[in-house]
Order: sequence, then C-alpha cells, then structure tokens
Amino acid sequence: MRRPMMAGNWKMNKRIPEAVALAKEIKKNVAAIENVDRVLCPAFVSLPAVSDALAGSSIALGSQNVHWAESGAFTGEISAPMLRDLVAYAIVGHSERRQYFGETDESVNLRAKAAIAHGIVPIVCVGESLEQYEAGKTEAVVSRQVEAALEGIEGEAVATMVIAYEPIWAIGTGKAATADQANETCGTVRSVVATLFGEEVAQAVRMLYGGSTNDKNISGIMQKAEIDGALIGGSALKVDAYSKMVRITSELYG
Ligand code: PGA
Repeated sequence: MRRPMMAGNWKMNKRIPEAVALAKEIKKNVAAIENVDRVLCPAFVSLPAVSDALAGSSIALGSQNVHWAESGAFTGEISAPMLRDLVAYAIVGHSERRQYFGETDESVNLRAKAAIAHGIVPIVCVGESLEQYEAGKTEAVVSRQVEAALEGIEGEAVATMVIAYEPIWAIGTGKAATADQANETCGTVRSVVATLFGEEVAQAVRMLYGGSTNDKNISGIMQKAEIDGALIGGSALKVDAYSKMVRITSELYG
C-alpha cells in the first residue's frame, strides 16, 4: 500500500513569523499522526524558520520550486544544493509557474532531475486548462506533460516520485474535480508511467489530486484507489481544515 500524503502549498502567503506560527499550530495538531506524510511548502524565505519550528516532528518540508543548475548566474533562483539541507520535497511545474513564469515541460523536467540528483523528491504538477478540459483533451494533455516531465529519469527514481494532478480550472476556484474525475486522470497518469517504466514503478509512484480540496471533500477523494493524497492550497493555510484533512486521511488508512 502506498503511503498517503497531505502536502500544503502555501504559495506566496505568510510573512516569516506568520509562517512559523502556522507551522507550530499544525505541529501541535498533527505531529502525532504518523501514518500520513505531512508536507508543508512555505515560501523560500520561511524555510529555515519553519524547519526550526518543526524540529522533533516527522512533518516534512518542501520548497515551491527548485532550479536546475547547481549554482551560477541565475538571479533570483534557488538551487537543489541550497535546498537539500532544508527540504525533503520540491514542487515543480505548478500550473501557476507554467502560466505566469514561462515554465515549460522541458524546464519542469530539468528541475525534477536536479531535485532527484540532490536527494529531494520532486512533486511534479500536471493538469489541463478549462479550455482543454471542455474540448475533451484532458487525457492527451496530462499524458504529454507526464512523459515530458519524466524524460530521461531512471525508473528507480520515478518510483519514489510524487505526481500531482491539478486541473487548472479547479485551482483556487472552489470547484474541485469530482472524486471520480480525479481518480480517472490519476489512473491515466499511472498507466502512462506503466507504459514508460513498467507496472512495478507505476504502482509505487504516489499520485496526489490538487484543486479546491477541503475538509468536506477530502474523504471522497481519498477513498479512490488511484489517489494517494492531496496537494492543498487554500485549505493548507487554515490550521483546522488542514489538520482535519490529515486526520480524515489517517482514519481512512488506519
Ligand atoms: P487550492 O490550490 O487548493 O487553493 O485550489 C491547490 C494548488 O494550487 O496546489
């Protein structure tokens, strides 16, 4: 059985003291829940302070991005060697990065490879736009994104990876995909992984759903066979909602 994960993507929210306070509250609530991987992804600047706040717990940290080069003239970027002492995970290819910051399938692939090379598990995000969804292109778009993101990565590494299916039309809109829709596309991703790397790798890779998840809809989503967790935006900034989502998942996997 794959280990469930509730990953909070805090995006560009919370000043450092606020991030520390949120992390401490979350720690108080869910530090004891050991059968769910809890991952917090604050802004880069808050990582050291949040890391200190989480000390002594098994709650992991993730970054919201990672650059592909080790160092050099890349003003404003953060490399995997800079992050490796702080984070276990790195989100790569979030649709907001693809939409607003020119992230491409190729750069997503480079970032994922850099993370893996430094022992950081990438959480690779894929997902279709509303237009693509309405045109019935979800499967084709997501399959292409997955193939491109995993290009040149060894099956052994792919097996440890996390892939988040996040339909763009569901992110921050309050309009989550139905559990069945999310399950179907997560299954599509798994079959793409199976074709590329074999069934064993496909069964090991963890699939998250992301897009307007909350403490009301998480139970239905987490009961689906292909879904191993959630990448949570808005609800991850609320102690009660996030903690409840972790507890519900823990009970389902108990
Ligand atoms: P949301 O964001 O939960 O606020 O929809 C999810 C995400 O962008 O990862």
